[in-house]
Amino acid sequence: MIPFNFIRPASLAEALDFLAENGERTEIIAGGTDLLVELRGIPAGKKGPKWVVDISGLPELKGIREEGEEIIVGSGSTHWEVHTSELIRETAPLLAAASATVGAAQHRNIATIGGNIMNASPAADTVPALIALEASAVLRSREGERVRPLSGIFVKPYQTDAAPGEILTAVRFRRLPAEAKSAFVKLGRRNALAISRMNAAVVLFLRDGVISEARIAPGSATPMPERFAAAEKILIGQKPSEELFRAAGAAVAAEMVDRSGRRWSTPYKEPVIAALTARALREALAG
Ligand SMILES: Cc1cc2nc3c(=O)[nH]c(=O)nc-3n(C[C@H](O)[C@H](O)[C@H](O)COP(=O)(O)OP(=O)(O)OC[C@H]3O[C@@H](n4cnc5c(N)ncnc54)[C@H](O)[C@@H]3O)c2cc1C
Repeated sequence: MIPFNFIRPASLAEALDFLAENGERTEIIAGGTDLLVELRGIPAGKKGPKWVVDISGLPELKGIREEGEEIIVGSGSTHWEVHTSELIRETAPLLAAASATVGAAQHRNIATIGGNIMNASPAADTVPALIALEASAVLRSREGERVRPLSGIFVKPYQTDAAPGEILTAVRFRRLPAEAKSAFVKLGRRNALAISRMNAAVVLFLRDGVISEARIAPGSATPMPERFAAAEKILIGQKPSEELFRAAGAAVAAEMVDRSGRRWSTPYKEPVIAALTARALREALAG
C-alpha cells in the first residue's frame, strides 16, 4: 500500500476547511470498501493521494429523516441502516431493496450510500433506485451548498462533477405515495457478495387501472446510470400486462444499444436487461 497521511476531522466544518486548502491531493474515505481497493491497486512508487480524510465519524452525515414530503438520507448512512430503516421501507422500498443487495452483511455494516454514489460505478446498486426516485444530491463545500438532480452529477464512469473541496452530505427525494409500485432487481454472478452484472429499478403510478407515470432506470446498461424515456413512454396510458412489460423490456434493450452502441458484451446484455426490466415491472405490480 502506498503511504499517505490520515486525517480524522471532528466536524463537517473542519473537514470542509481541510478540503478547501488541500482538496486537490486528498481522497475522502467513508466505509473504504471502494477506496481501499483502489489505493491498494496503486503500484509502489506511483503517486497517490497525500492525504486521506476520514468522514465516517461525522455526525452531520448520519441519519435518515423526513422533512415535509421529502426523505433525507445522510451520505454516511450505511447500507445496513438504509435497508433496515422503517422510513425507507415505507417510503422508498426499492432503495431498501437495492441497499440490501450490496456485498455481504459485514460489508453493509460499513459501506455507505454516499460512497456508493460518489464512486460513480455504472454497476452501483443504489444509484438506479435513487434515479427512479428522482433523488437530488446535496453537495457542500466551505463556500456553501448546492443541490442537483442526482442523475446530473455523473461525468463518466467513476467520476462525478464534485469539486475537490466538496462532500456529498445527503441525498433527498419525495416519499413515494402508498399506492406507487416499485421494485429493484439485480443479476450478479452469484446470489450473494456479487457486484451487479446488470440491475433495474422501476416505479409505476396507476390511475383507474392504467399506468399514468413510469420510471425505468437500468444499471450497467449505459456508462452513466439514467432513465430510459422511450421505454417509459410505451407504458404510459396502458393497462399493465405481461405483453406490455415484455415490450418495455425490449425497448430498454434497444435504447441501451442506441446509446452505448454494439459492444462485445451486447449479445449478453440485450436479453438480460430486457428480462430484468420485465421482471422488475412484474414485481412492482405484484407489490
Ligand atoms: C467485496 C465487495 C463487494 C461489493 N459489492 C457491491 C455490491 O453488491 N453493490 C454495489 O453497488 N457495490 C458493491 N461494492 C462496492 C462498494 O462496497 C460500494 O460502492 C460502497 O457503497 C462504497 O461505500 P464506502 O462508504 O465504502 O465508500 P468509500 O470506499 O469510502 O468511498 C468510495 C468513493 O466515494 C468517495 N466518497 C465517499 N463518501 C463521500 C462523500 N460523502 N462525499 C464525497 N465523496 C465521497 C471516496 O473518496 C471514494 O472515491 C462492493 C465492494 C467490494 C469490495
